[in-house]
Amino acid sequence: MMQAGGPDASRLLLQRVREVAATVVDKQDRLDAISTEIAEVMGAEVCSIYVRHGDSRLLLTATRGLNAQAVHNTTLAVGEGLVGLVAESARPVNLPEAAAHENFAYRPETGEEAFHSFVGVPLLRGGLVIGVLTVQNVRPRAYARDEVDALQTVAMLVAEVAAAHEPPSDDIGEDPRPVRLEGRVLNAGVALGAAYMHEARLPVQNMVSGGDPAGEIARVDEALEEMHRALDDRFHAADLAGEGEHREVLQAYRMFAEDRGWLSRIREAVRGGLSAEGAVVRIQEQMRARMRQLRDPFFRERLHDLDDLSNRLVQHLAGEAGRMQKDELPADAVVVARNMGPAELLDYPRERLRALLLEEGSHTAHVVIVARALDIPVLGDLKDISAIAEAGDRVAVDGENGQVFIRPGAQVEQNFLHAMQMRDERRAQFAVLRDKAARSIDGVEVSLNINAGLLIDIQQVAAVGAEGVGLYRTEIPFMVRSRFPDVEDQQRLYSRALDLSEGRPLVFRTLDIGGDKVLPYWRLAEEENPAMGWRALRLTLDRPQMLRQQLRAMVRAAAGRDLHVMFPMVAEVSEFERAKAVLNAEIERERNRGRDVPASVFAGTMLEVPALVWQLPALLQITDFISVGSNDLLQFFFAADRANPRVAARYDLLSPAVLAFFAHIVDSAEGANRPIAFCGEMAGGVLEAMTLIGLGFRKLSVAPASVGPVKAMLRSTEVAPLADYVRSLVGLPDRTVRDKLRAYALDHDIPL
Ligand code: PEP
Ligand code: MG
Repeated sequence: MMQAGGPDASRLLLQRVREVAATVVDKQDRLDAISTEIAEVMGAEVCSIYVRHGDSRLLLTATRGLNAQAVHNTTLAVGEGLVGLVAESARPVNLPEAAAHENFAYRPETGEEAFHSFVGVPLLRGGLVIGVLTVQNVRPRAYARDEVDALQTVAMLVAEVAAAHEPPSDDIGEDPRPVRLEGRVLNAGVALGAAYMHEARLPVQNMVSGGDPAGEIARVDEALEEMHRALDDRFHAADLAGEGEHREVLQAYRMFAEDRGWLSRIREAVRGGLSAEGAVVRIQEQMRARMRQLRDPFFRERLHDLDDLSNRLVQHLAGEAGRMQKDELPADAVVVARNMGPAELLDYPRERLRALLLEEGSHTAHVVIVARALDIPVLGDLKDISAIAEAGDRVAVDGENGQVFIRPGAQVEQNFLHAMQMRDERRAQFAVLRDKAARSIDGVEVSLNINAGLLIDIQQVAAVGAEGVGLYRTEIPFMVRSRFPDVEDQQRLYSRALDLSEGRPLVFRTLDIGGDKVLPYWRLAEEENPAMGWRALRLTLDRPQMLRQQLRAMVRAAAGRDLHVMFPMVAEVSEFERAKAVLNAEIERERNRGRDVPASVFAGTMLEVPALVWQLPALLQITDFISVGSNDLLQFFFAADRANPRVAARYDLLSPAVLAFFAHIVDSAEGANRPIAFCGEMAGGVLEAMTLIGLGFRKLSVAPASVGPVKAMLRSTEVAPLADYVRSLVGLPDRTVRDKLRAYALDHDIPL
């Protein structure tokens, strides 16, 4: 027996467990022998191995020291007892006095009552907790940090062995039937192709070092250098047209490759007896387990970059054998992955890439930002897709409606192909329409604008022939940066945004953060009702420095040009007045310093809070424009959280109640001679846009892809009779008038 932590204990543990794994054939005997070895090296009376079965149970699978009868009998739920706590938190638990912990769950059959100290570490594999390894002592003993560290290192090997104990899973991947999945559109587009399962990491054969840590560290350093060179080449070669946050994302990724904390932890793990590859994987598994528990999308992304870099480093360590074998990549690849880093996407030849399907993903995920720059359709939130799809499966991606068809069958594929052709034809028509007026048959002009969040989105304004950018959500660039941009950073960003819109009006919306839109560098307290909480203008009025800085940057960026500023979540006129006063003060400040100021300034407000609707006459006296943000406005109108899938789609936006509400807004604005725009996402639906125009809205701001279809609709519409018809629907008892509106469009040859 020895009691020592640090590299010595770690190396000895690895050596013993490796010997057992190599020599003991029977699976159960192997786990039993491993627990004996670990107990001995650690100087513990007990060493147990729990293996996870299904999603929620942990089964005692091998033990040295607890009652043998408990093996294969005692189970704990994830989250139950100390073992369950380790599994749930994916972190070690180290307690000199286990019974004193609130989570302690006594199992009489194990005879555990005799033991005081407890250390449990997770068995991690592929970022998942597949079991728990514990040691216990009769004496209350405080295990040192490096002893726990040694246990974590050996847990990697134990995880490999324990994985063989997993019962065969219900392999839904075997299912040859067609499957339809619904996901979230992260970049629109349609595609048909063959599934390619993204293999993030090469299998690592040799986790344990041959006894030459210095040699292994030299291998890590060499591989790192090679990786840096290869990344520089890759980013240099990637033909990413235009500019935007994708460049910043890739630069940040490149910086991570030099992260000292990450590299020193790898070196430390090598000193603990792991091979270079084993050390990279050990640190990676820990990061993955943390990543799964983080709710903050930004930090998840950052950790994901490190995950991606770890895979890349393992490839470089494998040398020639690790070169990405993309030869077998189908010519029409639909890449399926749990998640992916931005640089991994660049490993795929663009010409073979049709679409990207992710189990996770979000609009601000780094890979999605790069995919948008490359114009690749992306769907996210596709639960279990990597288990359901198999390499080579035909996959139809409907990235307009958020649907994926796996193994669709010849008939569906044929239909899909047909739909794709139709779409291409329609696109060609929209391209022709690009320079045509957005005018109805009876001469009603409607201003069509786009909503943007990233610089890359703004570049669409000219491509789709929009009049301007009706909504630039400035919080999005804040969310993909790693620190709060100062005035100069912001000024540069806004100046580029104005340049990219090429003289067309661009409406800056001030920060809409808080609530569920978190900035990693500025933590806010959790709130019960974030959508109705301390967010947007409420927050920036309370922290005026932030608002001042943002407005100052906008004023400077727009020097000599027109500046349009809009404030989000205004609930009462006085809030708008206060915000406008800050804007005016910033303009004055610039003028007093002898600097150029914007040629003209327009200050407007979003209409997102119902209370403001009842203050329109007063508001319209002092605002230059108004824009209806129906995403928020209607969630408050129906009291139905837009982010909660259970209720988000419960009420139809084309209901008589909504029509009556919007009619009231339009009527209140009439005569005030103030532009009233509509920038909620619903305006991008052709039927919805038709309805809004019928109600009297003359300025819409929509996703870039919607400009063509909305313009085509408008050019085939006679607005006067449409207006009569839409108004006639107000006050009906129906829960929705969608079908009636659709029938109207059909009857009047309006293309939807
Ligand atoms: C809205 O609420 O309609 C809106 C456009 O703002 P966001 O979707 O950014 O909240
Ligand atoms: Mg909003």
